[in-house]
Amino acid sequence: MAKITYKTPIVEMQGDEMTRILWDKIKQYLIEPFVELNVDYYDLGLVNRENTKDQVTIDAANAIKKYHVGVKCATITPNAQRVTEYNLSKMWLSPNGTIRAILDGTVFRAPVLANGIKPFVPGWKKPITVARHAYGDIYKNSELIVDSEATAFLKVEYKDGRVEEKKIADFNGKGVLQGVHNLDKSISSFARSCFNYALDVKQDLWFATKDTISKQYDHTFKDIFAEIFENEYKEKFEKAGITYMYTLIDDAVARIMRSEGGIVWALKNYDGDVMSDMVASAFGSLAMMTSVLVSPDGNYEYEAAHGTVTRHYYKYLKGEKTSTNPVATIFAWSGALRKRGESEDNKELIAFADKLEKATVGTIEAGYMTKDLTSLFSKEGVTVHALDSEEFLQAIASRM
Ligand code: NAP
Ligand code: MG
Repeated sequence: MAKITYKTPIVEMQGDEMTRILWDKIKQYLIEPFVELNVDYYDLGLVNRENTKDQVTIDAANAIKKYHVGVKCATITPNAQRVTEYNLSKMWLSPNGTIRAILDGTVFRAPVLANGIKPFVPGWKKPITVARHAYGDIYKNSELIVDSEATAFLKVEYKDGRVEEKKIADFNGKGVLQGVHNLDKSISSFARSCFNYALDVKQDLWFATKDTISKQYDHTFKDIFAEIFENEYKEKFEKAGITYMYTLIDDAVARIMRSEGGIVWALKNYDGDVMSDMVASAFGSLAMMTSVLVSPDGNYEYEAAHGTVTRHYYKYLKGEKTSTNPVATIFAWSGALRKRGESEDNKELIAFADKLEKATVGTIEAGYMTKDLTSLFSKEGVTVHALDSEEFLQAIASRM
C-alpha cells in the first residue's frame, strides 16, 4: 500500500518524560505505516531547551507562523525542583506561554467521547469545547491590602494630558482592592478565533459575561463580539447553519447543564479557567481532553491538555510497564494531519485522520483501554481489558 503524502511540512514539537516516550510509539505504530511524514522538527524537550537557551521554542513558534499547522508533545514547565533535576542555567518559561505570546491565540479544549465512558452529566451527548480568553483580567491584576480608613480611586493618565478619575470605595476600616484591565485588540482577536473555530467544527457558539453588573468592562466584551459577528461572520454562520448566542454567564451555566453538548463555549479568562476544569472532569478524564491553540490569522497548534505524566515516567525509568493513556496525544496528531489535509484539499489525508480517531475510540468501545479509563467504563456485553500503553497502541494499529 502506497503511503499518503502531502506537500507542506507540519511543525513537529517533541516534548518530555512519559509523553516523549509515547510520542515516538504513536508515530511508529499509528502514523508512519500509513503516512509519509513531512515535518519541520523541533525538540522542545527540556534538555534541548537548556542547550539552545530556549531559542528552539521561539524557532518552533516562528515555524508555526510559516507553515500554519503544528503538533506539540507535552513539555515540562520548569520549577525550582526541575532546575536542580535538569541542572538548568535558568528557570525557562513555559513553552506554551512563549508560543502563545508569539502566535497570539485562544485555547480551545474539547473532550474525546467514547460510548461506554459516561459523562457525569447524563444529558451531555456531544462534546463541549471551552474557548478560554488567555489575556488579562485577574491574571494581570494589581492588588492592594488597605490597612485602615481610606478612599480608593481608579485613575487614568492619558498621553494627551487628560486625567480621568473615579471613586471605587470609601474604606471605613481594613479591606482589599484590585485593579484589572483588558485590551480591545486582545478581545477582538479572541472573538475572531472563536468565530473561526465554530465555523471550523460547525458548532454553535455561545459567549457569556456578566454585562448586567459590569456595564463598561464586561459590556465591552459583549459589544466587540457583537460588532465583529455582524460585520464579518453573520453570513458565514448562516451558510454553515450555525448560530451565535450571547447570554449572561449564570444563564449560560444553567443552559450548559441542560444542553446535549455540541457547543463551543467562549469564556473570559477566569470563567474559562474554572469552567474548563468542570467540563473536563464532568466528561471523565484529563487524558481524554484535546487542546488546540488557534490564532486569528489562521495558525493551529494541536496538543494534549495533560502534562508529561511524570509519575508514570519514573516507573518507566525503573523498567516497569506503564498504562499511560495516549488518546489526547493521538488526537493532537490526527487534528494536525486533518488540518493539513484541509489546507491542501487532500481527501486521503483527511480520511486517514478520521480513521485514526475512529480506530482509537473504537478500541476503547470494544473494551480495550488504559487503566485510567477502566473504572469509568461500563457497557453491556463488553468485558473491560486493562492494557499497558504499548498493547493499547498495538490494538488500535490492528483495528486500523
Ligand atoms: P500531568 O502530567 O497531567 O499528570 C497528573 C496525573 O494525571 C498523572 O500522574 C496521572 O495520574 C494523570 N494523568 C495525566 N495524563 C495522563 C495520561 N495521559 N494517562 C494516564 N494518566 C494521566 O500533570 P503534572 O504531574 O502536574 O505535571 C507533570 C509535568 O507536566 C510538569 O512538569 C508540568 O510542568 C507539565 N505540564 C505540561 C503541560 C503541557 O505541556 N501542556 C500541561 C500541564 C503540565 P496517576 O498518577 O494517578 O496515574
Ligand atoms: Mg485552572
